[in-house]
Amino acid sequence: MYSELNRILPAEIIKTNELMKDHTTFQIGGPVDIMILPQNIEQLETAVKWFEKNHIPLFVFGLGSNLLVREKGIRGGAVKISAGLTNVIFKDHEVYAQSGISLSELAQMAADHSLSGLEFAEGIPGSLGGAVVMNAGAYNGEMKDVVKEVTVLDTKGIMTVLSNRELQYGYRQSILQNSGYIVTAARLQLTSGNKNQIKKQMAELAQQRKSKQPLEMPSAGSAFRRPTGFYVGPMLEQLGLKGFTVGGAQVSDKHAGFIVNKGGATADDVLELVHYIKEKVKENFDVDLKTEFLVVGEE
Ligand SMILES: Cc1cc2nc3c(=O)[nH]c(=O)nc-3n(C[C@H](O)[C@H](O)[C@H](O)COP(=O)(O)OP(=O)(O)OC[C@H]3O[C@@H](n4cnc5c(N)ncnc54)[C@H](O)[C@@H]3O)c2cc1C
Repeated sequence: MYSELNRILPAEIIKTNELMKDHTTFQIGGPVDIMILPQNIEQLETAVKWFEKNHIPLFVFGLGSNLLVREKGIRGGAVKISAGLTNVIFKDHEVYAQSGISLSELAQMAADHSLSGLEFAEGIPGSLGGAVVMNAGAYNGEMKDVVKEVTVLDTKGIMTVLSNRELQYGYRQSILQNSGYIVTAARLQLTSGNKNQIKKQMAELAQQRKSKQPLEMPSAGSAFRRPTGFYVGPMLEQLGLKGFTVGGAQVSDKHAGFIVNKGGATADDVLELVHYIKEKVKENFDVDLKTEFLVVGEE
């Protein structure tokens, strides 16, 4: 069966038993049976149709910055949308970009064009596609404020354009999550601004991140969604959980809202730590924490 795939796609974009720990910011995760790294839309369409035709489940991801992949890895296929799908076109106050571009890079490009609206995205280590799906946000900005429309590909290889309204955005939520749609591009609506001011604000936000977040350690960002009326970091600090460790997984001693991989952490270490934290928080604050990163892979 794989020989057909080798005939229709270049060998260098097909990886078998590729470890997800090499494709996630947590640096955790076992092998994917077949990973495709498309370098253009045609290759992406070909791959998607092949998986569909052969009834092989397909997982789509970007820069793996919001993922915890289990040790057994992912059965079936995975398509990584990053390098190769990074075209960007600026026109007036709009930017049309392919989903594989890094969000931070796009924010820098917008600043270079004196366009405001993406300052908040500085330092979010995901792809545009992942950000559109997750409604990524920070410092009072989120993707929902700038996305005009999104181009998606379904598993049959059909392209559709969805408007901002159709995406039904909420806090770190959109209808794109678990929809089977693959985001191939997005059109963002920005506003004109002063290049120096935009860059200054971005530099300040980057500095804030650097001083507060454990950027020097592998993680998947904030481990928990923000519960209404509470801040996770201070709650965990109050419970004395800063630095608390299970195997190689640790509640960051720089920012308790992050779980970091201090070396050799397994997905089970992280999940055990998450479970422990949730129990303690429920007992002490009567709050049900929800995990922010997505847990994928064979159990
Ligand atoms: C240090 C650090 C700081 C962070 N700070 C923030 C922050 O401030 N704000 C914030 O919101 N997040 C933050 N994150 C989390 C993460 O960067 C965002 O959620 C980001 O948008 C995920 O993008 P990604 O490309 O890495 O997606 P992935 O992790 O690869 O995937 C995330 C989800 O999106 C889906 N997906 C990805 N690409 C596509 C596509 N093209 N089509 C369809 N589905 C797709 C995947 O299936 C998966 O369900 C942080 C993470 C880290 C490690």
